[in-house]
Amino acid sequence: MRSRTALTIGAVAALVAGMPAPAQAATVRRRVAVVMLNFTDSPLKDAEATRERAAEDYFGMNGSLAAYYERMSGGTYHVVPAVDEKVIGPVEMPIAAACDTSAMTATAQAALSERGLTRDQGYDALSMIFNNDRARCTWAGLGSLPGPYTWLTDGISVGGVIHEFGHNVGLTHQMRLRCTDGDLHDCTEDGTSHKTPMGGGGAAQGLSAPEMIHTGWLPTRQVTTVRTSATYRLRPLHADGDRGPRALVIPMGDDRLVLEYRHHTGTLDPRVEGVHAYRVPGTSYNKAALIDLTPTDAESDNDAPPDSDAVTTLSDTSSKINIRVLSYAHSQATVSISFDAAPSPSPPLPAPTSASPSTPPAAPRPTAPRPSDSSTPATVTAAPVAATTPESHGSPPPALVAATLAATAVLAGAILPLLLIARRRTRRRKDEGDPGPQTRIAPR
Ligand SMILES: [Zn+2]
Repeated sequence: MRSRTALTIGAVAALVAGMPAPAQAATVRRRVAVVMLNFTDSPLKDAEATRERAAEDYFGMNGSLAAYYERMSGGTYHVVPAVDEKVIGPVEMPIAAACDTSAMTATAQAALSERGLTRDQGYDALSMIFNNDRARCTWAGLGSLPGPYTWLTDGISVGGVIHEFGHNVGLTHQMRLRCTDGDLHDCTEDGTSHKTPMGGGGAAQGLSAPEMIHTGWLPTRQVTTVRTSATYRLRPLHADGDRGPRALVIPMGDDRLVLEYRHHTGTLDPRVEGVHAYRVPGTSYNKAALIDLTPTDAESDNDAPPDSDAVTTLSDTSSKINIRVLSYAHSQATVSISFDAAPSPSPPLPAPTSASPSTPPAAPRPTAPRPSDSSTPATVTAAPVAATTPESHGSPPPALVAATLAATAVLAGAILPLLLIARRRTRRRKDEGDPGPQTRIAPR
């Protein structure tokens, strides 16, 4: 079962590496073993409260980890409890409090093994919860990238849980590139995108289009590769229904530009509105960064207006691509894209209707993703099975991987004050060792 899960994700990643034309994701049933841990000198303060909260946060009907990925995957990725009681423990650890993820994992695995549960038989993912008061991990949560392990401090938010499981499926932190002058020639990295739980947006925001492409959760028919100057339509990325394109992928040299239209839909995306653009390095969709053409946001990121960094015009002088967002409201956005610095065509748009085609008659029809695309070979980091556990890398010891991965948790912690305090320290730790491309997470 574990192998099947890992291979499914890996296969999707490989497909995306070739071109953004992932097949519909195969159905995955991810059995998660949640284990509470007690240090000898620092047990969970109220294990029953932690148990109840974890059962709800992981597997509840609404607002849970399971509900989130069920929704994002279009009902193909099922997070289910590995055991009937949903949350195991607390299990007594043989050590005093320490931020020792290897010891936590060993204790949890031994407890599961006593019950006849192994990763080959019984569970696919192992999630550990512990009291951090004395352990003093500098993060609120940690997740292997990709892989089966998450370590979570007692009291972490649902958004934090969703974030760490995002690492497990191969998603890195989503950063933000601040590009002045409306052009992509001069951009500097500036924090995280706040458009996804992987970019500090919390549990209320859906995944971004590049992340949906990476995981294979955006069907091929809803991704349009743009090679022709024309006006294109976009449906809200997370709207109900099955019609219409939800992401535009524009080859730009070796990289890709991805456009999405985000709109408050049901309980999702209350803080994201308008057309947003991402730069994908090569074909590594899991490493896409938001392009923000505005000066520094006056308000703190999650308090800023939902469309504060939405795109209105965008150009790239080196690849001669010009983009203009003509309109967006409710059920669709319209975007004019031109190549070779040609005048951007903007034919009069017919009144939007739900049944209208994705391209107005006056404009050339956008080309569909082509299997014969000459893009570069796979550079996606997701190496299916071999990279699923820190141990399997061979070279880095688990502790080093954990220390490096700590940088991950810090950015998750944009939603957790504790982590913001720890940010500077953890960055330094990350710089101390490079475990190799499979486990390096954030571009910073
Ligand atoms: Zn993280």
